[in-house]
Amino acid sequence: MEKPVVSAQRSSDTLGMEVEEMRRLAYAVVDRVIDHLADRSEETAIAAAEPQTLLDALGGALPEHASNPDESLDLLTNVALKHQQHGDHPRYFARVPGPSSFAGILGDWLGIGFNGIAASWAGGSGLSTVELVVIDWLRELMGLPQGTEGILVSGGSQANLTAIAAVMKQRGKGVVYLSDQTHSCVYRALVTLGFGEDEIRVIATDAQFRLCVSTLREAITQDRALQRKPLMVVATAGTTNTGATDPLDAVADLCEQESLWLHVDGAYGAPAALTDSGRRYLHGMQRADSLVIDPHKWLFQPYDTGCLLIRPGVLENAFTMDPEYLRDVTANSEEIDLRNRGLELTRRSRALKLWFSFRTYGVARFREAIQHSIDLAEFAEAQLRQDPLRWELVSPAQIGIVCFALGGQSDDEHRRRAKTLADSGFACVSTTILHGRTVLRLCIINPLTTEADITDTLARLGNNHA
Ligand SMILES: *Cc1c(COP(=O)(O)O)cnc(C)c1O
Repeated sequence: MEKPVVSAQRSSDTLGMEVEEMRRLAYAVVDRVIDHLADRSEETAIAAAEPQTLLDALGGALPEHASNPDESLDLLTNVALKHQQHGDHPRYFARVPGPSSFAGILGDWLGIGFNGIAASWAGGSGLSTVELVVIDWLRELMGLPQGTEGILVSGGSQANLTAIAAVMKQRGKGVVYLSDQTHSCVYRALVTLGFGEDEIRVIATDAQFRLCVSTLREAITQDRALQRKPLMVVATAGTTNTGATDPLDAVADLCEQESLWLHVDGAYGAPAALTDSGRRYLHGMQRADSLVIDPHKWLFQPYDTGCLLIRPGVLENAFTMDPEYLRDVTANSEEIDLRNRGLELTRRSRALKLWFSFRTYGVARFREAIQHSIDLAEFAEAQLRQDPLRWELVSPAQIGIVCFALGGQSDDEHRRRAKTLADSGFACVSTTILHGRTVLRLCIINPLTTEADITDTLARLGNNHA
């Protein structure tokens, strides 16, 4: 093939930025990111400001004319990006952190730079292949059967919604069983998809916050007696509150007996399957008909990266669209149009970052990093147990999460201590409500976190000073 002649007049940037300026600004962006990553332990774990303060700095009139990009980069770096939860900070323990790794960041940048698209085979065969490869690597890591299909989406919420919509298309509507610890995005997805109150059954959990299988069985029997159609069970592999995993093997047995679809939400916890102890803990997860996992949590990817793994054929059955303006000449059935496996048409490649980071670090490094978090949560539990006059362990360390309370202190006092700590910027922990009381919660999934980070954070929470 002849190389196209590059026009001397044509600018490198679509809107005319000079190539030297492009490089200068790009290096400035790289430097800012690396400085942030290198200095993050000394920065705040979380920062927020009043709406008016932020608006004064970032708002203003619509910029009709060009202005200094260095000043704008300063504003973005020092104001917009500063005021957030720093999910990659080693003492950010709230909600679920986002400890993204540098190879992941680079993979994402590369794809954005080339404006990569993974919508159709004809329009993106290279990136479609990368995605199919990554999906199969994730499948293997999760222990699901060969032939399982999947799709990368923005996160766990979208992945759960996509799964439920696909199953609904395959099997029709019916009753869906959740637990009182199921992530609320599942309930929202069901309501969004038109499931009524009598089709959403919230099953109580046991003392360990696990779906109670006998209650589930009774509910199914009851619904059949009422001529309702049981459709699917949503089990959780690592709840967001406590890290508890539903008894997946028993739930899978029941689903098999009752011919129900088993959907497992492993958005948070599924990556624990990369370690031996995690695999034992998640036993039965590999029997899921569909599984959600969030690589932007415990697989160290930048936002946004969610993944749905599901039995073959179900996605295309639900989502295929074939209007005249999208038709390509396809040579064979291996040429997969990813637009037909989810609800996005134009879609960026979320697979590049995973592909690049798996290859760059090797999965063994991921396994070590995940094991480190599991161990650190157990270390935190041991610390709490050492001081029973001050601390009460509410839920033991389970794949990276531990919940605890201050002996004799009110719900308000727990919330106040978490807020004081966050306001100090030193660390950030969540509160949550378990069995009706407000407790403190650590979610430890950052490989950079040390034992000293845990003891210092607990000391500040326990001594009521930040
Ligand atoms: C985080 C989480 C979700 C939601 O995922 P997003 O990526 O925030 O949309 C769903 N389920 C569980 C168990 C989670 O931990």
